[in-house]
Amino acid sequence: MTRPEPGLAVEVADGLRRILAPNPGPMTHWGTNTFLVGTTEIAVVDPGPQSEAHLEAILTATKGQRVAHILVTHAHLDHSPLAHGLSEATGAPVTAFGPPEAGRRPIMQRLADEGLAGGGEGVDTRFAPDETVEDGDSIQGDGWSVEVLHTPGHFAGHIAFRGDDWILSGDHVMDWSSSLVSPPDGNLTDFMATCRRLQALSPSRLFPAHGGVIDRPQERLQWLIDHRLSREAALLDGLSDEPQQIGALTKRIYDIDHAMLPAAERNVFAHLIDLVQRNLVVAHPKLAWNAKFAAA
Ligand SMILES: [Zn+2]
Repeated sequence: MTRPEPGLAVEVADGLRRILAPNPGPMTHWGTNTFLVGTTEIAVVDPGPQSEAHLEAILTATKGQRVAHILVTHAHLDHSPLAHGLSEATGAPVTAFGPPEAGRRPIMQRLADEGLAGGGEGVDTRFAPDETVEDGDSIQGDGWSVEVLHTPGHFAGHIAFRGDDWILSGDHVMDWSSSLVSPPDGNLTDFMATCRRLQALSPSRLFPAHGGVIDRPQERLQWLIDHRLSREAALLDGLSDEPQQIGALTKRIYDIDHAMLPAAERNVFAHLIDLVQRNLVVAHPKLAWNAKFAAA
C-alpha cells in the first residue's frame, strides 16, 4: 500500500472513513489515521495532533453531517490534542478512558512516583475528556454502534473500538511497527494479554491509527506475541550467568548503534518489569531502573 493523501476522507469499510493527518515521522509512519464512524451522526476517532489543516479536513468531510462524538484511543500528542478544537467547533463531547495517567497499574504508578519519566513518547499531559468510558461500554449513532475495548499495553488507558467485523486498534496493533511499550505508560504484561484478547475476538480486519489496514489480524497478533517471546528468551539467556543492570544487559542482547540504545533500554526495562511480576527475574535491592537483575 502506498501512502494516502493527507486531508482526504476515504471510505475503508461500510460507514467507516479514514482521513490521514499531515504528521508523518518515525513514530507516526505516514501520519495519524483519523476515523469517521457513521454517515449522518458521526464519531470522530483520534482527531490527531494540533493542526489547523487537519481540523479543516475533518470539518469539510463532515459537512452536512453531525459530529456527535469525539473518541480518543489514548493521550499521546499525535492522537488527542485536536480533540479540544474539534469539540469547540462542533459542540461534541470528548470521550476517552480518562486523563493521561488513568488505568496505570500500581507498580507503574510507584515507578512514576519515584521519578521514572516517559522516554519522550509525547504524552498530552493537558488532555481532559468530557466523558469517560470503560471496557464493554457501547457508543451509538444513527445506524451504527461500537463497543469500547480497554486495551492497555502501549498506554495504560488505551481503548479500541469494535464495530461489525472490524476493530479500530489505535497504537496497539500496526502493520509496520511492533508498537512501543515504554514504562510507566507502557506495560508489557498488559500488552501480551491484550494481544491474546484481540485474537480471541477474531475480527476480520484491524484499522490501526498509523499505517494501512491489517487484513489478517490473527497472523499479525501472533507475530507480535512471538516477537516479544523471543526477546524474552534472549533476555533470560542474557541473565543466565550473572546479575546485570539494564545498560549492560541491553548491549548484550541488542546489536544496535548508539542512537537506538535509549529506546532499546526502555524496551528491556518493560520486559524486566514483566518478568519480575511473573517471578522469573528478581531485582536487587528492589524493582527500579538502576536495579541489578538476576534470573530467579
Ligand atoms: Zn501512542
